Amino acid sequence: MSRLSGLEPQPVWDYFEEICMIPRLSKSEEKIRQYLLKFAENHNLEAKEDSTGNILIIKPASPGYSDIKTVVLQSHMDMVGEKNAGFPHDWNRDPIIPYIEDGWVTARGTTLGADDGIGIACQLAILADKEFKTGRIECLFTVDEESGMTGSLNLSSDFFEGRTLLNLDSEDEGIIFIGCAGGIDTVGELKYETENHEKDIEGLKISVTGLRGGHSGDEIHKGYGNSVKIMARILRNLNGRFSISLFSFDGGNLRNAIPREAFAVIGTEKQHKQEIAKWIDDLNKTIKDEIGDIENELQITLKDTALSGSAIDRITRDKLINLLTCCPHGVLGWSREMEGLVETSTNLASVKFTGNNKINIVSTQRSSVESQKKEAAMMVEACFRLAGASVEHSDGYPGWKPNPRSEILSVTAKSYKRLFGRDPLVKAIHAGLECGLFYEKFRGIDMVSFGPTIRGAHTPAEKIEIETVRMFWDLLRDVIINMPAS
Ligand SMILES: [Zn+2]
Repeated sequence: MSRLSGLEPQPVWDYFEEICMIPRLSKSEEKIRQYLLKFAENHNLEAKEDSTGNILIIKPASPGYSDIKTVVLQSHMDMVGEKNAGFPHDWNRDPIIPYIEDGWVTARGTTLGADDGIGIACQLAILADKEFKTGRIECLFTVDEESGMTGSLNLSSDFFEGRTLLNLDSEDEGIIFIGCAGGIDTVGELKYETENHEKDIEGLKISVTGLRGGHSGDEIHKGYGNSVKIMARILRNLNGRFSISLFSFDGGNLRNAIPREAFAVIGTEKQHKQEIAKWIDDLNKTIKDEIGDIENELQITLKDTALSGSAIDRITRDKLINLLTCCPHGVLGWSREMEGLVETSTNLASVKFTGNNKINIVSTQRSSVESQKKEAAMMVEACFRLAGASVEHSDGYPGWKPNPRSEILSVTAKSYKRLFGRDPLVKAIHAGLECGLFYEKFRGIDMVSFGPTIRGAHTPAEKIEIETVRMFWDLLRDVIINMPAS
């Protein structure tokens, strides 16, 4: 007996349950690839695969529908595997066990893989429906979206024909997405000499903790504190007033997170310690005046510590402090097409002493406008270079510039209103989607992204709202029916 039997639309849930049986972690998609190819064979549908592992299955136009524009339906076949501590699950072999709870489908002990299994299930249900009269439909299943987007990165520009694409990988019913940000990392490295410090200096450890942090894309506009910037501000002020030696600076962690904590060890003459403590206390109040309303857990503390190792040379100390003061952080530009959308931003993510007389400084830039992403990266690079740092950039990934006048957006929004009696929200996100890669590769491609409501994606709490799957399905079919003539 099927666990999801009785749910509507039945073909979608049947395929979804089948997909739950198939292990498909990123970079281990062989079984789901075989399943998709077998599906095409069983349904007499043309299918092809490329050398990266992406698959395309084609439903030819129904008789009398050959003048309708081809539509590409796209999902990704891999999923993130997370499980509860102690839950026995072999990701190479065991099926995911879905069950129904309070209007949602979730999985026992593991991620559910509704991201993006529900997209796959809808594609298969449409491909299998012989009664559904449509123009040509190309179903694209990419590999490895979750751990590097290498599938869409390596797509060749002639793998599919359609230039209208529906990305079935978003997680908020009622929202149509029409843009995303590209990203690039800019990493600087400063070399320093060690310096013998005077014997009578004493150590102080400064800690900046309790900040919110947050995602460097989705939350960059919220004005949260950046622990690295705050620490740089403290050191710059101390450095101007007292003679300090810098022994270490450690702030931030992940490149895509706003830094929440930073720690520095300084040496100073004993006679200055009390003044420094008072001064830091004052600065603490100043910063709380500035951001205390959103950062009410912020703590800046000072305590005695034993000094070990050597301080960095004074010239590099000044360069580092100047670099971090000068380096931008936060929103650099807002979109004029989409109200409230951050167009370009930069995150000063981390500073680490790497142990071989080197200091590593990591930052990430994002923009929905490719040229602005590069310009932001150059701006940060220039700042690093002024301080004498060497600089490297990651390859990065491209953005998708919103087009509020897009034809497929108009078709989708009209379908939504007709079906549900209200307008959908139209949004772009300041984070990456595979659509950015399609946008770069297929000039002029017209795209939207929509999906049912999924919560807790990438965690064992992942769940999908049953009612929104029916809405997603109805919308998807209605958009296909209303595809314009080519
Ligand atoms: Zn996804």
